[in-house]
Amino acid sequence: MRSAAVIVATGVLLSYPLTLVGEDLFVLAAFDRSPDTAAVEHMRQETARIFADTGATLAWRTRTQPGIMPPGAVRVTLQLHGSCRVEPNMLSLAEDGPMGWVESYGGEMLSLIDVDCDRISAMVWQNRGTLPLPLVVRAFGRALGRVLAHELYHYVTQSPAHGASDLFRPVMTSRDLMLPDVRFEPAEIEVLRKALSARGEPLTCRAIS
Ligand SMILES: [Zn+2]
Repeated sequence: MRSAAVIVATGVLLSYPLTLVGEDLFVLAAFDRSPDTAAVEHMRQETARIFADTGATLAWRTRTQPGIMPPGAVRVTLQLHGSCRVEPNMLSLAEDGPMGWVESYGGEMLSLIDVDCDRISAMVWQNRGTLPLPLVVRAFGRALGRVLAHELYHYVTQSPAHGASDLFRPVMTSRDLMLPDVRFEPAEIEVLRKALSARGEPLTCRAIS
């Protein structure tokens, strides 16, 4: 979805419209405490599924996994707060407050996204109905992925503005978190596509300068 440029030995910049090979979005995830790996995998899959509508691919790595960051990708660091687990007999009650946010400094959104596992797990747990535990874990992972997708939208577009989809309204409810299928609306996808393309160009230039 982005074009890359190549540089030759003479230092002349050629603007061949090459297609970037690799990932468009790269998430480096860190956890306060050891998470439920199944929930984290559901989270990763859900965020990747949502962003697939934009044509963007998602790469994911935790801080304990070795590996390099793909060049040219839009990179964010994700901090998951609290306990990213669903435990039987959980007693916590969901409190009002943000489920996720993008850190900012001087009016600019930084590539640091925070997600509150405790608040989200409490919302999913309270609305689990008769779901068996493995499906509650899946719903929890998907909810985490939806909150991350919402915050990634803010970061990629560098805008606090919201849309009308279940994913990108100003306030996401437990219903939005647990719907079987949620997507960005076509207008939101178009804004995301343009923003991802625009963000890819300076990254590409920086990579070869
Ligand atoms: Zn928002």
